[in-house]
Amino acid sequence: MRLTFLGTGGVWAAPVHGCPCSACDAARTDPSRARAPASALLEVAGLRLLIDAGRTDLPDRFPPGSLDGVLLTHFHADHCLGLTLMRWSLAEPLPVWCPHDPRGYDDLTKHQGRLRFQTCAAGDAFCIGPVTVTPVTLIHSRPTLGWVIEHGAERIAYLSDTRGLPEQTFAVLEAAPLDLVVLDCAYPPGSPDPRGHNDLDEANAILARLAPKQARLTHLNHDLDQYLAASGVACRTARDHEVVEVAEQGF
Ligand SMILES: [Zn+2]
Ligand SMILES: [Zn+2]
Ligand SMILES: [Zn+2]
Repeated sequence: MRLTFLGTGGVWAAPVHGCPCSACDAARTDPSRARAPASALLEVAGLRLLIDAGRTDLPDRFPPGSLDGVLLTHFHADHCLGLTLMRWSLAEPLPVWCPHDPRGYDDLTKHQGRLRFQTCAAGDAFCIGPVTVTPVTLIHSRPTLGWVIEHGAERIAYLSDTRGLPEQTFAVLEAAPLDLVVLDCAYPPGSPDPRGHNDLDEANAILARLAPKQARLTHLNHDLDQYLAASGVACRTARDHEVVEVAEQGF
C-alpha cells in the first residue's frame, strides 16, 4: 500500500487568513509549510481510493478513470467540499462510502451527479476488490467513521476527525497489528477547548496504546505548528505531499 497525503491541515491550518503568527507567516513564505484540508490518496492492489475530499482542486487532480472511489469520514466542509465540484461530470459514476448522517452537507446528497453514496455502519466490513475496509466509530461533533483498510498482511487505519476513541474502536484496531495509523491531532497539549479533535498529549496516548509500526498525525492547526516549532518537540506529524509506503514483510 502507498498513502500520499494530499492535505494535513485542520480548519485553522497555516496559513490562516489574517493571522500574523509565526507558523502562518512561515507557511506564506514557504508553501511546503502550508497545509491543505486533511485528505489522502491510498493506492493498493491497483486501486486508487481517495480518503476525504476537502480540497477544491480535485477535478483537476483526478481526471476521468483515475479514481476508484472515495472513503468519506464525515460531512464537514473541510472533508467533502471537493465533492460538490466533482459531482457534475460526464465521467464514470464514483462510489462514496460514508457514515449515515441525515444532515449531510448542503445539497450534496440530494443532488449527487456522478456520486454514488453508500452508507456504512461501524463494524460492517466490506470489500473493494481484494481490499477489505472496516468502518470504525470516531468521537466527533457529528457522525464520523474511521477506516481500517486491509490487503493481505498489510493493515492501516485512518482516524480523523476524532477526540479520543471509543473502546469498541480500540477493540477493532487492536485485533491485529497495524502497519500505519493516521490520527487526528489539531491542538497543542492542554488546549482548553479541543472541540472534537485530539491535542498532542491525547494523540500520543492513543498511538502509545495502539503501537503501530508507523504513525502520522494529521489535521494540524496553526497553533500546533507554532507550538512544535517553538518547543522543538519531536512528533510524527505528516506533511502535505508526503508519501508513506506500507510493504508486506518479505520472507
Ligand atoms: Zn497563525
Ligand atoms: Zn470534522
Ligand atoms: Zn476536519
